[in-house]
Amino acid sequence: MESCIFCRIVKKEIPANLLYEGEEAIAFPDVSPMAPVHLLIIPKRHFSHLGEMADKDLGIIQEMYKAAQLLAKQKGVSETGYRLAMNVNREGGQSVFHVHLHLLAGRQMGPSLVG
Ligand code: AMP
Repeated sequence: MESCIFCRIVKKEIPANLLYEGEEAIAFPDVSPMAPVHLLIIPKRHFSHLGEMADKDLGIIQEMYKAAQLLAKQKGVSETGYRLAMNVNREGGQSVFHVHLHLLAGRQMGPSLVG
């Protein structure tokens, strides 16, 4: 999608430090980190939010979680722990309308999902 910032990262029109690139997903650091480790794992294809993904697309979610597992190991937080969070649509707090999974780590997470 032309105007989507994450699609532009996928197309490498906007630079990002790609920490993972697989068949269907990529990962890069969040530009405004809320924890010492804050990565975003996104599908290469554009889906505005999780609800737009059909059953046949759910293998992409599997790859995103697999990437999270791998990245957590690479960042050395697999044993200490981390949080995976996906904001879905407006009331879910989503601000960038291209599906993404947040990986947050490196500090004690509070009871709030991203706090
Ligand atoms: P959400 O509120 O769940 O939609 O999260 C969107 C996230 O994308 C926020 O944490 C932003 O800091 C992050 N973000 C926005 N633009 C960029 C960008 N160009 N590169 C990396 N992260 C970004």
